[in-house]
Amino acid sequence: MNDEQNFCWLAGLIEGEGSFMKAPPSRPNEPRMEIEMKDEDVIARVGALLGAKMQRRVRKQYDPPKIIFRVRLGGKRAVALMTRLKPYMSERRQAQIAAALGSYTARNERIAAEAHGWFTLGPVCTNPMCAKVPAPGAKWCDTHREEDSHVRA
Ligand SMILES: [Zn+2]
Repeated sequence: MNDEQNFCWLAGLIEGEGSFMKAPPSRPNEPRMEIEMKDEDVIARVGALLGAKMQRRVRKQYDPPKIIFRVRLGGKRAVALMTRLKPYMSERRQAQIAAALGSYTARNERIAAEAHGWFTLGPVCTNPMCAKVPAPGAKWCDTHREEDSHVRA
């Protein structure tokens, strides 16, 4: 997938599974986007695209405990992502984003205005279910490059 397709994939997934949160009073520069799912491969790809670490969480309130995977983005990178996503989101999500961006402190208005330009997706394998980073200049990871050459042959 190219950058535009990756962005669309991410936007759809975040519309369904993500949440946008205001900055907590103790950390006024940290509005957040979080997404969590039980599907490790999906969240690994989100993490690769956003350049954020995937966290593994155990939900002990369930019996048996559930394992879920989470990516959490905060601060100016979250602001950049929200700014870029907002026009593509539902009304409900747009309201969440507006509240989260509104919670960003005034001294960072300039940052918010520039945020659009900061949003770039990280390099990730063209295979839509792969979260591996390809070699510089390559579109596929080592595993999937092999499959791609079979497709073209
Ligand atoms: Zn791959």
